[in-house]
Amino acid sequence: MAVEQHHPTYAITESDVNIRILSTINELHLRYRDLDEGTVAGYIPELSKVDPDLFAISVVTTDGKLYSVGDDEHAFTLQSLANPFIFGMVLDELGRERVRQFVGVEPTGNPFNAIVLDRQTNRPMNPMVNAGAIAVTGLVPGNDPTDRLNRMLAALGRYMGGAPQVDIEVFMSEKSTGDRNRSIAYLMRNFGTLTRDINEVLDQYFQQCAVSVNCRNLACMAATMAAGGVNPHTGERAISRAALRDVLTIMYTCGLYESSGRWVHTVGIPAKSGVGGGLMAVVPGRMGIAIFSPRLDSQGNSVRGVRVCTDLARQLNLHLFVAGGDTAPAVAPIDQPPGTDDTSIAQRT
Ligand code: GLN
Repeated sequence: MAVEQHHPTYAITESDVNIRILSTINELHLRYRDLDEGTVAGYIPELSKVDPDLFAISVVTTDGKLYSVGDDEHAFTLQSLANPFIFGMVLDELGRERVRQFVGVEPTGNPFNAIVLDRQTNRPMNPMVNAGAIAVTGLVPGNDPTDRLNRMLAALGRYMGGAPQVDIEVFMSEKSTGDRNRSIAYLMRNFGTLTRDINEVLDQYFQQCAVSVNCRNLACMAATMAAGGVNPHTGERAISRAALRDVLTIMYTCGLYESSGRWVHTVGIPAKSGVGGGLMAVVPGRMGIAIFSPRLDSQGNSVRGVRVCTDLARQLNLHLFVAGGDTAPAVAPIDQPPGTDDTSIAQRT
């Protein structure tokens, strides 16, 4: 009788990877469950009411599988996590050149709420910090404030795979206390970066910040970016590939504010945080990651979010310049005719 030869194989099968993701997020949840460093955001009064111990980790892979642990159905607000999505929407609506007239692409090295504009251009430095995000919000097209809000919610909904809601308490809380953002807006109006009514733009900005999600939703939103702009659950395109490339690039260089350099050095994947305690990261072609934990470090990033994402990236080999870097082909395959990459979302869907 012939003896069957068994060769050991080290290839990771899909199910292995899935078990690895699941066991890794469970292990990280246990590892950081008792970490209580940091404080919840207090400058928006409503945010200070959150239970600081809440903690969730969710991963959605580009084939739509969800891995999740902890308080993953607890609602929190996007805050600055909305910035990359609205930036992408405006890129698709107005085109890259037009948007670049209003906002730069340079990391600031400053806190997210710095009252600082680019010294040469007087534009905000990038769309991930408050100044840039407010300028981008001021570009959202529409007939009136309601139309603009609805378009913004529809754009976020394509990533979420559902209809997002604005948390009215959080919105009102920031609207009534947001003088720092108001100052930034006036400064930008002075330089011609904001041309619409200041109060209307700020209301819209505070509303986008107050959009309510849970950790599962946020992972799906990140996974949509990881999947080239197509929501892996609904199959709907949320953003064109060309705009997505710009969004991910700016998330990579500017997503973690003044920690952005350290972030790409140690973690190495595009990410974004919000003072509501959410943090998302995108591993192109592989997965979207979301962590929710409301205690923030001095820069406004979720303490446990940063720790979990750092360990996850190391344990699953997610750094962009490590994972697959040695096996990638020298020349990327051409999978679409030249030029289609720049087609706007309106034409593509
Ligand atoms: N709404 C917050 C603000 O404008 C968002 C800041 C953040 O999440 N980093 O201050």
